[in-house]
Amino acid sequence: MTAEIIYGKQLASDLREEMKLEVDALKKAEITPKLTVVLIGDDPASHSYVRGKEKASAEVGVESNVLRMKEETTETQLLEVIDELNNDVSVNGILVQLPLPGHINEQVIIEAISPEKDVDGFHPINIGRMVAGKDTFYPCTPYGIITMLKSKNVKIEGKQAVIVGRSNIVGKPVGQLLLNENATVTYCHSRTEDMRKHTLEADILIVAVGKQHFLTADDIKPGAVVIDVGVNRMENGKLTGDVEFDTAKEKADLITPVPGGVGPMTITMLLHNTIKAAKKHNGYLGK
Ligand code: NAP
Repeated sequence: MTAEIIYGKQLASDLREEMKLEVDALKKAEITPKLTVVLIGDDPASHSYVRGKEKASAEVGVESNVLRMKEETTETQLLEVIDELNNDVSVNGILVQLPLPGHINEQVIIEAISPEKDVDGFHPINIGRMVAGKDTFYPCTPYGIITMLKSKNVKIEGKQAVIVGRSNIVGKPVGQLLLNENATVTYCHSRTEDMRKHTLEADILIVAVGKQHFLTADDIKPGAVVIDVGVNRMENGKLTGDVEFDTAKEKADLITPVPGGVGPMTITMLLHNTIKAAKKHNGYLGK
């Protein structure tokens, strides 16, 4: 049987419609959620991601501005800018586009952003809150994945979830969010022995490695839910995932495509977090 495809692009569009209504209502109360993105250097991929964030913000009525800074910006200069943004009451969300130039310590920058404006959900305080099972700003890609699973009424509780990849931005937090939903979670990574033994047990298989067609149907349990986070550019210039979609879809029950799967959900959850920050800062949600 061929799997049902989870079109993240469609879900993201539906969620943005709802967010637009929410932002319209906030604007009537004279609250305009505002996101400030800090972009350092000339990396074309980063510039493209930031343009996507600006466009999506405009679509739902979130005000966004981008501070474009030179590649030579020092860590001290960047910390000064973050300090100003932390103290600017008109700014609800701060996002420093990663990766940063090598001479700037990313962790220092992540930790300098106020946890209450950390709409990327990378600050250790927000990660700690997530691990403790508390409501907070969850990292956008993992949160988008959970939202996709819930949109399809995928049963998470009691299920075996296997995460391939353990990065701080995707693998680790998505496993934590699945654990919070009462899944049994296994992480696989580059040192895992006999990885297929694990992936074949997965009811929910999340793949975030960054290697084209890293897993195939042979790695997938019949009836599994497969979420492909990978984004890889093929020789012909097109994008593809970490999972060999054409074979995997014949084995899985539900599967995400690349492109049009997880990617559009990531920006959508960034908007969600920015709106949530604006509501919190204006006393609409508990402190
Ligand atoms: P990352 O930081 O490079 O992490 C890759 C992970 O894969 C690491 O944990 C690594 O293990 C593991 N890995 C590498 N080779 C492996 C192997 N042979 N066997 C098992 N595990 C292996 O990557 P990331 O930032 O998580 O991103 C992963 C992919 O998702 C990339 O393609 C990225 O572009 C994409 N992505 C997409 C979105 C989106 O919104 N769609 C968002 C973020 C990332 P070790 O830890 O042992 O090295």
